Amino acid sequence: MGIETMKNDSDWKSVLTPEQYNVTRRGGTEPAFSGELYLEDREGTYHCICCGKELFTSDMKYQSSCGWPSFHTELETADISRVPDHKFGMIRTEVKCSKCDAHLGHVFDDGPRKHGGERYCINSVSMKFVESIDHGYEN
Ligand code: FE
Repeated sequence: MGIETMKNDSDWKSVLTPEQYNVTRRGGTEPAFSGELYLEDREGTYHCICCGKELFTSDMKYQSSCGWPSFHTELETADISRVPDHKFGMIRTEVKCSKCDAHLGHVFDDGPRKHGGERYCINSVSMKFVESIDHGYEN
């Protein structure tokens, strides 16, 4: 069990912004088209804002026009948790960080078919983007 999972509610409150706390620890949703990563298209990786776990890369991101950052695939190592969510009279699948249980967003089945048909609809505030540094050569 990672050290992040031992943080209690007031710990999270003290390290996160109110918006980050509301979304990741309270299952909130940022307003559509408001998130700073919605139109992000640089090369890099997307990490859990709470614990830093790598979740997605820019190769997995696509423009879905839904108002939130969308990904068709997750990193194999991310092992994102899926939880049935019946709130608001809808049947949805919530996705959460497998390391610290942060609420990330939901996964839907209207994603690009050539990539498996899933759409991870993720709150910008649940993630930290780290831009790749292009050395101009293969490692
Ligand atoms: Fe996390």
